[in-house]
Amino acid sequence: MKALVLTANKRLEVMDHPTPVAGPGELLVAVEACGICGSDVHGFDGSSGRRIPPIIMGHEAAGVVAETGSGVTRFRRGDRITFDSTIYCGECRFCRSGDVNLCDRREVLGVSCGEYRRNGAFAEFVVVPERIAFRLPDSMPFADAALLEPAAVALHAVALSPSEKRDTALVIGAGMIGLLTMQAARSAGFERVFIADIDASRLAIAKTLGATDILHASESGLVQRIEEITGGLGVDVVFEAVGRDETVSAAIDAVRKGGTVLLIGNITPTVKLPLQKVVSRQIRLQGTAASAGEYPQAIESMARGTIRVAPLISAVAPLASGAHWFERLYAGEPGLMKVVLAPGGPSLQ
Ligand SMILES: [Zn+2]
Ligand SMILES: [Zn+2]
Repeated sequence: MKALVLTANKRLEVMDHPTPVAGPGELLVAVEACGICGSDVHGFDGSSGRRIPPIIMGHEAAGVVAETGSGVTRFRRGDRITFDSTIYCGECRFCRSGDVNLCDRREVLGVSCGEYRRNGAFAEFVVVPERIAFRLPDSMPFADAALLEPAAVALHAVALSPSEKRDTALVIGAGMIGLLTMQAARSAGFERVFIADIDASRLAIAKTLGATDILHASESGLVQRIEEITGGLGVDVVFEAVGRDETVSAAIDAVRKGGTVLLIGNITPTVKLPLQKVVSRQIRLQGTAASAGEYPQAIESMARGTIRVAPLISAVAPLASGAHWFERLYAGEPGLMKVVLAPGGPSLQ
């Protein structure tokens, strides 16, 4: 098969690679669409330690079942599917309680980190366990379906926020996860959802996707604006989708007393914590990782249109152009959002 292989740091090559074989309980999937994730772009230069070459990256994917391994019962050849980015064991204490994102034997597709190397979906074929796969509605384009993974991440973050007092929320960061979280928060019943970023074009997209109000974070008065909008109270929940000193600090300043800050972004591994504010204002800090059971809800939300992804897709491009798109994303080209590679050819979207 053809695969886009990370052969060295920052070096991507399309080459022939042995087609994987579906073992017991596994599916061989003909990949039709696979999104380039921010973690691929940040990680492919070697800085994260989670894309150690050689590796086929890609964990936001959809395709068609090409073969089924022995013992597979839920899928047949020709089924249109997507799958979780987390490969969980289904047996450990966390899996048994439904916290599959916290699985003791968790592996992520398209990641190679020293402990394991798991080839992903920037290839014509990928093998995944049946237990992590989900059937797609016939009407859902594969390119849209490739965004179910980040949509499930957004829904998981919202699911971890308190279910009472959902009046106001602020999303910090209007990247992919922020824009999806904003939509997920609206559909979960938050009455007013604000979103802040320094990029005006992303905020414009946020507005069309239903944000109550957009806030330019570069104008130093973000926290002041939130105070004005909320009558001095602060918002009930902040979804922090960046992960820097300034943004975490702004999140803690913008949340009301007794409110919750959902920590999604972790672009820097450590941040300064305004401890006294957190303690004296009794603020709850809640981390959120990947997703745990939100795929069916993500599929339904996208099919119903309560989560829209088409405005987030900048390009659907052939696998062979992968290196080119990685370069452009790595350079931080303005206005570029999600790029979806189509190993089956763009005609198959
Ligand atoms: Zn991702
Ligand atoms: Zn497990």
